[in-house]
Amino acid sequence: MIPKEILDEINSRLNIKDIVGNYLSLKRTGKNYTALCPFHPEDTPSFFIFPTTNTFHCFGCGAHGDPISFIQKYEQLSFIDAVKKAANLAGIDISKYLKKRELPTELQIFESYHNKYKEILLNLPKSHPAWNYLIKRGISRDYAERFELGFSNGSLKSSILDDFDLPPTLGSELGIIRKDGSEVFNNRIIIPIKDDFGRVVAFAGRSINNEIPKYLNSPENKFFQKSKILFLYDKAKNIIKREKYTILVEGYFDAISMHINGFENSVAILGSAFTANHAKKLIKLTDKVITMFDMDAAGQNATLKSFDYLLSYGFQVAISQYNTKDPDELIKKQGKNGVLKALENSKKFYDFIPEYYKDKYNINDEFGIEQYLEKMAEWYLKFQKSKHAAILDTFIKRISLILLKPENNIKKAIENILKYKKFNKKIIPYVSQTEDSISSKQKNIMSLINNLYGSGLNTKDLEII
Ligand SMILES: [Zn+2]
Repeated sequence: MIPKEILDEINSRLNIKDIVGNYLSLKRTGKNYTALCPFHPEDTPSFFIFPTTNTFHCFGCGAHGDPISFIQKYEQLSFIDAVKKAANLAGIDISKYLKKRELPTELQIFESYHNKYKEILLNLPKSHPAWNYLIKRGISRDYAERFELGFSNGSLKSSILDDFDLPPTLGSELGIIRKDGSEVFNNRIIIPIKDDFGRVVAFAGRSINNEIPKYLNSPENKFFQKSKILFLYDKAKNIIKREKYTILVEGYFDAISMHINGFENSVAILGSAFTANHAKKLIKLTDKVITMFDMDAAGQNATLKSFDYLLSYGFQVAISQYNTKDPDELIKKQGKNGVLKALENSKKFYDFIPEYYKDKYNINDEFGIEQYLEKMAEWYLKFQKSKHAAILDTFIKRISLILLKPENNIKKAIENILKYKKFNKKIIPYVSQTEDSISSKQKNIMSLINNLYGSGLNTKDLEII
């Protein structure tokens, strides 16, 4: 506990105008200052700063407080972290009031192994394969330190657990040592995976000599669930708030390269998929997401899958456009400008979807068009059910431009597909089927669409835009 007098002393030494002014641009109105409230969306300022009482107050959302509480609220810190930051700014030493931070045992183990792994990496000779690997990926010694990378040379074994007087079984439960006492991440570069508060909750290990698998992850534990953690979120969260958008990437080194090159609002999903938990976490910071997944089929699938939660949580999603394998390679080949261009060329999700599937189906024949429209109907329904119903007309327009058919016809066709599907729930979109395997039900849809086009489609006249 920090005594009230000390908190008062910290607040009194901090000028609310200067503190808020660090984050927001202020306008003078008489004795006071105003700004656009950072805690609720608004176009005209209702956020006031009162120098005489050294407080702020928002007449829009009721946010109110002193310098410490502004720092806490704006930076989304715990009270104690906000006090620490404020005390630092005020030049007051509060260390004697701070109880030594008590980490849960599991996290103490991760932290201790992590510290050792960092030390081992920094002590490796420059010519070591680990450094060769990192340098090749654009990660200098300084960056390795900044992102707290480490290396396992297999020398630690259970020593840290022994120091804590803990059984080696705990080490194998956490996926740090094997049952035979050797280290799981031996001969791998250690990437710390942190939770939202910056505590190490797991490791990823990258092999440096093409050993399979390339990446090894700690198994999930009480503090580490892939579905809840976004890599580098702890570093990115305040930047995302400031930049008002986030860049979603796929890999550890993609995220690290993005941060190194100034895109510090980037976070990465861990291997699998973008989840509802990820969406919940991000929507508190911003409602704008640009995805920058790998350009291969797996990456594109991950992009499409991520839409499910992004759209249903109301994100405005855009998909960056570039032509290298992944962001990391993009940066290596075209530098920061390559990324800027990829972001500038981003396509909004309702432009991206019709374009993307255009190439997946042969829209030069009727059957391909039918499949294509079925797919579009599926997305139409998703948009309708999400918070994006307002873009349905634009979406239809894009499709009509691709198929060179009137918007009305497209809309009718899609609505009919959806109506038909309601009665035949078993009809699932069929991406890889050939013409030979058209079921009779699917033929029904085809004739239905053909009817809508009156005399049928004159597919020879179609052009791909
Ligand atoms: Zn407000």
